[in-house]
Amino acid sequence: MKLVLATNNIHKIREITKIMAGLNVELLTAADFSDFPDPDETGTTLEENAIIKAIEIFRATGIPALADDSGLEVDYLGGKPGVLSSRFAGPGCSFADNNRKLLESLDGVAEKNRTARFRCVAALALNEDDIRFFEGSVEGRITPDLQGREGFGYDPVFFFPEAGKTFAEISEEEKNRYSHRGQAFRKAAAYLRELID
Ligand code: IMP
Repeated sequence: MKLVLATNNIHKIREITKIMAGLNVELLTAADFSDFPDPDETGTTLEENAIIKAIEIFRATGIPALADDSGLEVDYLGGKPGVLSSRFAGPGCSFADNNRKLLESLDGVAEKNRTARFRCVAALALNEDDIRFFEGSVEGRITPDLQGREGFGYDPVFFFPEAGKTFAEISEEEKNRYSHRGQAFRKAAAYLRELID
């Protein structure tokens, strides 16, 4: 069975490829196609954006597609940046811009009020009428400054209590073991394994 990962984010591709290793499917990525779409994320929820991406990539390739939409929800900010996590600091912003804006938004806020979670929704489009969702979330809190150099996005400001470190201070293997994406894609892998068997 072939499956195409509906993302252009090389960090996500790296993580997902490792999380799904051992599954008896040929995982294709954007690099396997000359004209890979970059769908507009016009949804208002992670679920809506995941489905938009999965269906658009399925239509473009004709191959079952697995999409990931994920984001950081900060309680003090009423759940923001949430679905707008990649564009928190404005159009075309970098991970560094987003982290700077987040730390500024929480300037002076006490540690106990800096609670946050990463959420991931994976959408599997086997065809246009058969879409399945798999979810994961992980609780943590926002640090007062950047800590660590691993990972991507908000990893350097996301303190994960079980490890006593940020996601940017632990290895990719350890992050995958606990992360929102690790949880969601292991569920997707289990579903696919049953389907294949
Ligand atoms: P998406 O491509 O619309 O799913 O955007 C997800 C955004 O959320 C990314 O650009 C990151 O800013 C953030 N994000 C999602 N997952 C992670 C993670 O595992 N670590 C750090 N940031 C993440």
